[in-house]
Amino acid sequence: MKSALGAAPRTLLVFVDGLGLGERNPAVNPIYRGDCPRLRRWLDRHATPVDATLGVPGLPQSATGQATLYTGRNAAAFMGRHVPGLPGPRLREFVARHNLLSELIRRGYRATFANAYFTDDIEEVRRRRRMSVTTAAALAAMGRVRARAELFAGRAVYHDLTRETLRERGYAGPLIKPEEAAAHLLDIAREHDFTLFEFFQTDLAAHRGEPKAVEAVLARLDKFLAALAGWPRRRRGLLLLISDHGNLEDGATRGHTRNPAPLVALGRGASVLRERVRRLEDFAPALLACYPRKNSRLQASPLGI
Ligand SMILES: [Zn+2]
Repeated sequence: MKSALGAAPRTLLVFVDGLGLGERNPAVNPIYRGDCPRLRRWLDRHATPVDATLGVPGLPQSATGQATLYTGRNAAAFMGRHVPGLPGPRLREFVARHNLLSELIRRGYRATFANAYFTDDIEEVRRRRRMSVTTAAALAAMGRVRARAELFAGRAVYHDLTRETLRERGYAGPLIKPEEAAAHLLDIAREHDFTLFEFFQTDLAAHRGEPKAVEAVLARLDKFLAALAGWPRRRRGLLLLISDHGNLEDGATRGHTRNPAPLVALGRGASVLRERVRRLEDFAPALLACYPRKNSRLQASPLGI
């Protein structure tokens, strides 16, 4: 099967939790008053709105939203409701069975999750009763996640970019700048066909509802994004930013919103993706359409391209 785009792109996907497309009003939306010019420009010029409501009543939530993004199947319909936070066993199984990372690897591509776990023992992560959708997907697809040694060797990125939140966990080493975290992520992306990084401080800060803290998170994220911005100019480079639901863009509430999530797409195949993704469940199939199977003897997958 041929891709719609010819040769498959080198994709760098930055997942940003709880970031919706809201009013362009600085009184309501911190993105329009904060020190985040890159993010603002991307949302204004390079984003398409993605319906995150999944056709299920209530506010969209992270576990079902992320599970839908990475499987291409409507996880809220599967569960009969929006599931917040971390997935339980049934939803974890749903993610582990078929997801974007495992499907790309099955098709013969190098796909990876770049986030670091602050542990030396991957088995301990595997045994955790509670883990994120992405952890479940990465363990199923890669058989591992990136551990502490890789973080300190610059071969993984901590979720907060600077390692500052590791202080609460006894870390006494140096902090790094968001730009250095971006350099580490780009080093990983150069060695892979698909690289995923997950940032969720946006959602956490918005839930706490302190405007200054929200703006600080946005400023940090923006420095990181600006340092990634050269990626699409690489041959075959595709840079994507997507979210699971709204939250931060509406300063009038600490909760999630029903605003559309943005899909920012820059570089090779960006316009095709922006055209094809209208709902969260469109994302994985649209991306996989760019990655034809390298081994045509393999059977079609339930992600179905
Ligand atoms: Zn949330």
